[in-house]
Amino acid sequence: MSFSMVASHSTGKVLKDVIFGASAACNEAIQKYGANKVTNGTIGAIMDDEGKLICIPTVEKVLRSLPTNELAAYAPIIGLPAYLEAVKNLTFADNKPDGYLEAVATAGGTGAIHNTIWNYSEIGDSVLTSDWYWGTYNVLCQEAGRKLETYELFDENMNYNIESFTDKVNTLLADQDSLLIIINTPAHNPTGYSLSEEDWDKVLDVCKEHAKGGNKKITLLVDIAYIDYAGEKNECRKFMRKFSNLPENIFTIFAFSMSKGYTLYGQRTGAMVGLSSSKELTTEFLNVCKYTSRATWSNINRGAMATLAAIDQDKTLLAQFEAERDAIYQTIKQRGAIFMEEAKACGLKALPYKAGFFLSIPSSDPAAVCDKLHDDLIFAVPLKRGVRIAVCSISAEKMHGIAQKTLNALNFV
Ligand code: PLP
Repeated sequence: MSFSMVASHSTGKVLKDVIFGASAACNEAIQKYGANKVTNGTIGAIMDDEGKLICIPTVEKVLRSLPTNELAAYAPIIGLPAYLEAVKNLTFADNKPDGYLEAVATAGGTGAIHNTIWNYSEIGDSVLTSDWYWGTYNVLCQEAGRKLETYELFDENMNYNIESFTDKVNTLLADQDSLLIIINTPAHNPTGYSLSEEDWDKVLDVCKEHAKGGNKKITLLVDIAYIDYAGEKNECRKFMRKFSNLPENIFTIFAFSMSKGYTLYGQRTGAMVGLSSSKELTTEFLNVCKYTSRATWSNINRGAMATLAAIDQDKTLLAQFEAERDAIYQTIKQRGAIFMEEAKACGLKALPYKAGFFLSIPSSDPAAVCDKLHDDLIFAVPLKRGVRIAVCSISAEKMHGIAQKTLNALNFV
């Protein structure tokens, strides 16, 4: 570019969004051939079997019945007290780790990740996540002047690659005094993988080893955006107990989001929950994150926070809400199972999907595979390392046959 008006650190910034690109191609096909003939596996939101966005009925009812004041007034920067209290309970259910906890409301889970990167990694340092990752992590790091480094998520047997994780942590901590590690589990985007209890033990052992000397700091950001579609409530939160009594120089943050769990994606409401064995450090967490929130978006959506609190405080509403969400979870689970069973039967090597909105198939030329799938009017998202298929948006009926067609496309390119 010859001349630019933006500041030097902003020159050349263009958001490359493959997801919206793939979704545009899909919408074109829908216009041409009709929605019935097209399979839209590009969307990151739950669609019913007719392809319509699902909003959990109790959530919609409560949100629409809020008094105007609850919708229009400012909220405290840190979040509504009842919301924060509920979030702390919802994050852990019966698996609250020992230690001190604080919560700060954020603009979606994205806001929690933003606040964490800003306050828990040094400018210019590297942040670590797995090689299969939600692309936004990189955008968030770049924007804040950090680099994103990756380790290999899976080994050759498709198990969690603790060796690669260990190597990367060792390398980065040889150069840096602190390290922020982002782990999206359970029901990882884009693979659907969930770290097992054993995976977590190994991850924490590596962190504890580095924490021993006392001169290194590690922050673990556990991105739980999809946790409400990952299995039985307490079963998929069991790993959280392991964060009890960690040394002071390991700080844990959970990124909570109402986007998927409450199907309120556009209402931009989430939270960050900080955990430490030191009260001083959770108070520090509260202070610095509140400051960053004020400097970034000020306060967040009051109506969505009030909705969550209202549901949480009313046993009948809560039971109704949980039943509705569970029915949606079962639908997604069934859709994922169809794909994985057919993949196994036809010999397609999909990554080990456990739960969640997405599954992925490795490929050296994901764009070509997605293009080939267009012949069958199937639309998926080409990522760097493979093809992402949105289990959350494809009906069980349309899911039948996709694995075989993906295998055909892989063999063709
Ligand atoms: N983390 C992951 C891995 C996601 O895929 C998303 C949403 O797509 C989020 C966090 C947070 O989303 P939101 O900012 O809408 O809460």
